[in-house]
Amino acid sequence: MEQTNPTTRVVILGSTGSIGQSALSVIEHDGGSRLRAWGLSGHTRWKDLAAQALAHRPRFVAVVERELVPLLTAELKGTGVEVLGGRDGLVRMVQHAETDRVLSAIVGAEGLNGTWAAVEAGKIVALANKETLVVAGPLVMELARARGATILPVDSEHSAIFQALKAGGRSEVRRVVLTSSGGPFRGRTARELARVTPEEALKHPTWQMGPKITIDSATLMNKALEVIEARWLFGLEPEQVEVVIHPESVVHSFVEFVDGSVLAQLSPPDMRLPIQYALTYPDRTDGPSRRVDWANPLALHFEPPDRETFPALDLGFEVMRRGGTAGAALNAANEAAVARFLRGEIGFLDIARACRAALDSHTYDPRPALETLWSVDATARREVERWRP
Ligand code: NAD
Ligand code: MG
Repeated sequence: MEQTNPTTRVVILGSTGSIGQSALSVIEHDGGSRLRAWGLSGHTRWKDLAAQALAHRPRFVAVVERELVPLLTAELKGTGVEVLGGRDGLVRMVQHAETDRVLSAIVGAEGLNGTWAAVEAGKIVALANKETLVVAGPLVMELARARGATILPVDSEHSAIFQALKAGGRSEVRRVVLTSSGGPFRGRTARELARVTPEEALKHPTWQMGPKITIDSATLMNKALEVIEARWLFGLEPEQVEVVIHPESVVHSFVEFVDGSVLAQLSPPDMRLPIQYALTYPDRTDGPSRRVDWANPLALHFEPPDRETFPALDLGFEVMRRGGTAGAALNAANEAAVARFLRGEIGFLDIARACRAALDSHTYDPRPALETLWSVDATARREVERWRP
């Protein structure tokens, strides 16, 4: 893949979120030399979206809620920024002929819609929305092959694996090992976890992220989703994916080759680096990300995960092996359970329990169509909404 355009026109789906804001800071640092914000999208925080549009002057902004269109239009009057509404507006922006890359950074299964539109149009997709591949990995990868779309990982672990994989041929890969910080509750017992509050779970030791993925990082469901993401993204066999706890979040993952050589990618925890790499790939450019400071002692630790205290992780391995509709069921159940935990309706340990229940009761289909996945998603959400501890 060659860098053909002098500037890459980037559409950011979810520009008001944590990944979206980091992406805009990468574009700002670039100063227009090779990256341009071409389209922005937000959801409820329309004033933030308007402020971003005033600062970056994209060609489009898009909001799914149509009632927000007149408000944004008034705010952006005279700027030449076109305001689009509804899911179809978002699709138009994504599939526009002049859109070069799409950063998919909406949270949750909702992000699948924009990713799908980008892949359908054969775009280069910088994929932060891991839920896309958890819900519909095989279908999305198949569509990408058929439409000539390229999917570049933004998730730091997958970006690391993507980079390390370049050291050898695919048949030479023995396995990939995803690192996990272990979250804020590493070392705690299940007894202690039963009582943790949303405030405690929202304090991540190494990463600043949106609330949903922060809770996922505390339950280790985030790593479960990443295991599934890795399988489909890199076309791995289930036994080729492993997880290791690494509290410093400096080594972002490993690739182990058949001869025993292990390659890693290292950098301080800062999402601007994997975002930038997916926006400038195959090139590497100067950027705003933090650097390893070799003048200070740096100790890195690795330990096996505590699978009993954090049962969400094994749900991920199980779903990765099963494929089919299992990913859609697990993902939707988790989104609903996290929302209920944040509302104070269920306890921290109930998140994995509710997911287990939704997985067990769902009607499994090994080769589902997209519509089937959406119906499994809706059923799992309803079930978790009704679930009682
Ligand atoms: P966030 O909550 O900070 O931002 C979410 C974005 O999605 C916002 O712009 C919001 O407006 C938009 N959004 C939410 N619901 C929407 C809907 N129904 N329709 C349209 N837009 C909607 O989340 P985040 O932390 O930036 O994470 C975004 C995605 O990136 C997630 O899939 C997450 O798993 C993934 N990711 C995040 C990080 C991180 O460091 N934050 C790292 C790796 C992967
Ligand atoms: Mg990650």
